Order: sequence, then structure tokens, then C-alpha cells
Amino acid sequence: MDQKKEQKPHCLILPYPIQGHINPMIQFSKRLAHKGITITFAVPQGVLTSSTAVDDIAVETISDGYDSAAARAGASPQERLLSFKTAGTESTSRLIEKLREGGRPVDCVVCDAFMPWGLAVAKSKGLFGAAFFTQTSSVNVIYYNVFKGLLKVPVSEKEIVQLPGLPPLEVSDLPSFVVDSEKYPGVLELMAGQFEGVRDSGFVFVNSVYELEEEANNWMKKSMSVKTIGPAIPSMYLDKRLQQDTNYGLSLFKPDDTCMKWLQQRSPKSVIYVSFGSMAKLDKHQMEELATALMLIDKHFLWVVRSSEVSKLPENFADEASGKGLILSWCSQLEVLAHEAVGCFVTHCGWNSTLEALSLGVPMVGVPWWSDQATNAKFVMDVWKMGVRACPNEEGVVGHEELVSCVKHVMEGERAEEIRENAMKWKELAKGAVDEGRSSDRNVEEFISTLMGGQVS
Ligand code: UDP
Repeated sequence: MDQKKEQKPHCLILPYPIQGHINPMIQFSKRLAHKGITITFAVPQGVLTSSTAVDDIAVETISDGYDSAAARAGASPQERLLSFKTAGTESTSRLIEKLREGGRPVDCVVCDAFMPWGLAVAKSKGLFGAAFFTQTSSVNVIYYNVFKGLLKVPVSEKEIVQLPGLPPLEVSDLPSFVVDSEKYPGVLELMAGQFEGVRDSGFVFVNSVYELEEEANNWMKKSMSVKTIGPAIPSMYLDKRLQQDTNYGLSLFKPDDTCMKWLQQRSPKSVIYVSFGSMAKLDKHQMEELATALMLIDKHFLWVVRSSEVSKLPENFADEASGKGLILSWCSQLEVLAHEAVGCFVTHCGWNSTLEALSLGVPMVGVPWWSDQATNAKFVMDVWKMGVRACPNEEGVVGHEELVSCVKHVMEGERAEEIRENAMKWKELAKGAVDEGRSSDRNVEEFISTLMGGQVS
């Protein structure tokens, strides 16, 4: 980049196009835009159903090889990944050319670590490339050891896995793709492949907080330039630096905000909030156990059941539960978690949901479904000690008695106060990380000054 150039540095941001990856990457983009970096955020055509605009951020489309949601849904995960790599490489190159010809040359590509081909495109164009991890550094330690061939998969059921920077892990604490790699063909390769090319980059962003997993961060730093920048959540829940920044802004689902009025009528810390994120598909039996548990506990509940999952609820459940529980297809989760009426979050422990609850001081009951969620649940329970993980039975289902006991433990058990105090402690730490001069802020500032100083190409 020419130092004398008048134009602001321009970053092209490439998220993997699912909600849990778009959210932190759009937040990171907002921070950069606020500091004067031009941002283009690119997603495959047809992924964004609404034309929601995010201030100061241009949204462009690239191709993942599919021209309709139906065609995309009909392909296997392996086919989709391959198609995205081929079509994404070509269309991202074309987009970079288009932006250059339009007088907005790109200086840097920040790409989701799920898409190492983005770094290859940046390199082929002579641009600076940075990777962005939407999972924790602890999970990165696990996958990096798989990538290097140091952790052999599949791991045997009885093994205790001891990896640098991590507490001893049982098999049930590991990401499902490491344990059950055959069930998800191609996915473990994707996870381990996240580290391809990142060693060359001066910036390997992780949506986490350095102090939350210090030893894992320190170990990863020996191999690559890890920069924790989290929590990447809207500024109004953290430092309030960006006054308009109250939600992520690019939602693939339509939130139903009626729940805010409903929450308003509940007393502090009395409501159980239940959500399994944007992707989990619980089986019918699991949904029934949850429904039974929620009816047995003497508390109000707010349960997000995506429209694709509603048919798994017991018949007439919404009617039977009315007065006690509210069922919604989607909500503004941060607003809900920040509400004083919420006392506990029954969650799949997707990393965004976990980090949001941690940043807002809400105790959790973890019911992990797949991917890195079991590892996040392990940390919630045994490292951060701000919740518990519910145990599945031999059939892999978490029964209603276990759910009732976990929720009671967190909300009113002997250790409830200690759990709440820990939650508040992590809240302060997470919020503080983005304050001026603190760990995450310093890393963002370092990147900005590198871009501004023209040292990126
Ligand atoms: N989310 C939301 N409303 C909901 C449920 C989820 O806004 O009703 C958001 C949540 O705040 C988080 C994201 O969707 O930012 C889900 O990401 P996560 O990593 O927790 O789970 P995933 O969907 O990737 O499994």
C-alpha cells in the first residue's frame, strides 16, 4: 500500500456464511470501520434474505457455486465445501478486481479460518491476508494438534487427552468431529485445515479474550501470531463506544421482540432462557425431555424453537405452557441475556452464545449438541465455573430429571451464589478486554496502525 495514498485502507472480510460466523466478523468489521478502515463484507448470493444494511459497511456477494437455497441444501457438506472453495476462489478474485477497477482497491483480506482459500486468493493478488477464528484458542489447540498429527483420531473412548495449555480432557469434552470423524465426512479435514497458510500471516484473530484461556493462547502464540479480539459483540453491551451498535445487524432469522414485554413482567433472575442457536437439530425425544423438564421446574421459561424444529415439540405444548413459558422462533438474544429477569441460560454452548452469556454474566446449563460445544461446556463448568454441563444417558439424550437438577443447581442450589459470582467476575473481565489499552483493544489497534501505516503489502 502506498503510504502517500489519500484513500483509507480497505479490508475485504470473508465470513463463512452461517450466523455464528457472520456475527463476530461483522462486529470486528464495525470496530475497524469506526476507526476509519473501509470495509467490504462479502457473502455468497442468496445467504442474506433481507437487505439489512450495516452502517459504514458495504455488503457484496461472491459465489459458493449454488444459485438457490434449495440447491445448496441438497448438497452434502463435503460437496458444499468443495464447491465453495472453487467458486469462492474465482468470485473473490473477480470481486477484488471489480473493487480495484471501481477505484476502491483492497489492501487486506480477513478471511474466516474455515476458508483458507481466502488467504491463498489474497496471496495471489499480492494482498495482505489475515485469518479469523470464531472458536476458542483452546479448541484451536485441539485441532492444531490434529493438523500436526500429534493427536491421533479417532481418540479411544477411555483415553484422557492431555494437550499443552489445556486441562486434562475426557473424550466427551472433545469436539464431536474429533471423536466421531466418520459420522461427518470431510469436516475434520476442514477443522484441521483451518491452520493452512496462517503461519505466514502477521495477524491470526481469535474471537476470545486472552485472560479467559491464557495458557492455550500462550501455546498457540508459539506457532502463529494469535491476536485475541473478543468479545466481538455489539458495543452497547460492552464499552458503549459505538452508540448505535445495539445488535449484530446481519440476521439470517427474523427476531420476535414480543418477549421483551413478557420479560418485563418477571422478577429479577427468575426466568430460564433456552436456546440451541441457529443450527442444532435436536431429536424429538430430546425436545420432549426438555419440554417435560421446563414444565416441572417452578419457574418461567423463554424457549427459542426455530420454525424448522417446531414439529418436534409435544402436541399442544405451546398452549399447555402458556402462562408459564413463551416459545419463540428467534429473538434478539443479547437483549434477552442482558435482561435482569433472566437467571439461567440453557444453551448448546455454541461459542457465540457462550461468550455472550459470559460477557453478560448469565450462569449456564450446557447441553452441547456437536462441534466444539462439548469443549466450551467443559470450560463453563470446570474452568470458568459459571455453570454446569448436563449429562446425557446411554442413549445420548439428556433426560428431564437431569435437566431439572442442573437448572436448580445453577439457579437455587448450594453453589448458586458462587456460580453467579463467578459469572459476574467473567463479565467484568470480558467487558474490560475491549477497553482502551486492554488485551483485545490493543490487538485491534495494532492491526489498524499496521493498515494505516501501509505496512501490509
Ligand atoms: N441468536 C440470536 N437469537 C436467537 C438464537 C441465537 O440472535 O434466538 C444468535 C446468538 O446471539 C449467537 C448466534 O445466534 O450470536 C448463534 O451462534 P452460536 O455460536 O451460539 O451457535 P450456532 O448457531 O453457530 O450453533
